[in-house]
Amino acid sequence: MVWPDGRREQLPVSQRRSLMADADRAVRRAAFEGGNQAWSSASDVLAAALNHIAGTRLTLNARRGVGHFLDVALHQAGITRKTLDAMLEAVADRSLVARRGLGLKARALGLSGASWYDLEAPFPLPSAGRVPFDRGVELVRGAFSRAYPRLSRHFDDMLERRWIEAAPSDTKRPGAFCTTSELSDETRVFMTYQGSMGDVSTLAHEVGHAFHSEVLRGKRPLARQYPMTLAETASTFAEAVLADGLLADRSLSDSARALLLGKVVSDGAAYLLDVPTRFFFEHAFYEERARGEVPAERLSELMVSAQRAQFGDALARGEEDPLFWASKLHFFIPDVTFYNFPYTFGYLLSRGMYALFLGSGPGFLTRYEAFLAESGTALAHEVARATIGCDLEARTFWADAIETLVSPTDELERLLVQKPS
Ligand SMILES: [Zn+2]
Repeated sequence: MVWPDGRREQLPVSQRRSLMADADRAVRRAAFEGGNQAWSSASDVLAAALNHIAGTRLTLNARRGVGHFLDVALHQAGITRKTLDAMLEAVADRSLVARRGLGLKARALGLSGASWYDLEAPFPLPSAGRVPFDRGVELVRGAFSRAYPRLSRHFDDMLERRWIEAAPSDTKRPGAFCTTSELSDETRVFMTYQGSMGDVSTLAHEVGHAFHSEVLRGKRPLARQYPMTLAETASTFAEAVLADGLLADRSLSDSARALLLGKVVSDGAAYLLDVPTRFFFEHAFYEERARGEVPAERLSELMVSAQRAQFGDALARGEEDPLFWASKLHFFIPDVTFYNFPYTFGYLLSRGMYALFLGSGPGFLTRYEAFLAESGTALAHEVARATIGCDLEARTFWADAIETLVSPTDELERLLVQKPS
């Protein structure tokens, strides 16, 4: 890439993503353009790979009597076509709130519309400062214990047993995860806590996963294996408990509030605009691939039209990423097909559940835990109907889940107009 000061540097592509989230727009653009130059030099090879992966799947589907290319993805996700359609219709209907959220970010950055390399840009707000680990633990514990005592007790239990590995070290890989031993039924959380509010949120997220394992403890091994669509329910739910707990703190400054709300709004844009774009692109690609090979230029056309359709005016014209199909690893995983909609599904499912929790109070938590306990035993809509009593095959559940973004977006808009200090 060519840095804004003219310096040329060759960087591993793994660093591109974090550079595209840099606070300096010139750096984001440089990483975007330099990266796409590299991707375009390999685009024919990548297009051939993508065509082979999709072509193989389509051939296998025909031989195996699989009727539609989505059937395998639906089976892997543990949902019905009716459930997926209900969710996607709600997303198509209501993506306006997510576009409005992205529009707020663009305006805060002084832009009339966002470019692709602005999607991950931070809101231009004073940062919250470093949060030491002990303070981070206190914040999570405080939020959990107010709203969900059993979750809080589990968190304390994990800390006491030293099951959370959080200290930074040169020998640790990046990222965070939670893992459970089939043998001992014990759970461990791995992460690198460096003191950002994002790290505090990650801590709550991973403890949510650990809580899911706790609820599943003692179940037979196959009943503990839940599909990806249900894998992020407990983690995102725990994150929502934390976020609400923090926002309930009256001593919070306006800029700290705006930062927290900015994360809520950015997540909304990611799951309601970016991720569905990947689904609609892939869907269009599979339809064309069934009729023959799809060249790189055509893949780029399909990508741009999917981005235009989903982002609308929130993405400035001509500022799409035509080569997103080449750079997104998820399209190239041979074992998992349509590795995109489960993210939106999990996100909206947990927002919908959290809204039900806020509406019906602590009594909801017994039903919620029953849902987690059954998450490896049946299709998602069956588990949800039997435990929570909600209908995932109906559009209203999903529309209500999206509706929960309206008030954080409104409040963020008010705060940004006031220019928080
Ligand atoms: Zn997770």
